[in-house]
Amino acid sequence: MPVSGLGPYDDGNIFARILRGEIPCRKVYEDNHALAFHDINPQAPTHVLVIPKTPYVSLADFAGTAPPEAVAGFFRAVAKVAQTLGLEDPGYRILANMGVHAHQEVPHFHVHIFGGRPLGPMLTTT
Ligand code: AMP
Repeated sequence: MPVSGLGPYDDGNIFARILRGEIPCRKVYEDNHALAFHDINPQAPTHVLVIPKTPYVSLADFAGTAPPEAVAGFFRAVAKVAQTLGLEDPGYRILANMGVHAHQEVPHFHVHIFGGRPLGPMLTTT
């Protein structure tokens, strides 16, 4: 079910549980600011999620309230993961869903990295 990106942080969400080690993940990268792991339901040959290690629901929440070093560290991690996965050339897509219209399912801010094949147009028409 999609969630509103505007609510308070829910400590029981699945990514919070992964961060606490309660649920396993297929980790691809971790540093002080970010954890990256394979999406359980991949939409492309490479589909990796990058999440900040601290609890923020949305981009507005994260960018607006996290310390600058956490924001910079997170986005550096996104770029590093894409590079490490060999996606820089021929290219890849990042995407972040916020709120109901974007069908955000997990209320812990995250960036999807898609790659491994031509990805087509940005959005479907439906
Ligand atoms: P979003 O709609 O942007 O909130 O995307 C949430 C993503 O999390 C979806 O692509 C799910 O397939 C993925 N997901 C949900 N549970 C897990 C899990 N336990 N491990 C890895 N990915 C997950």
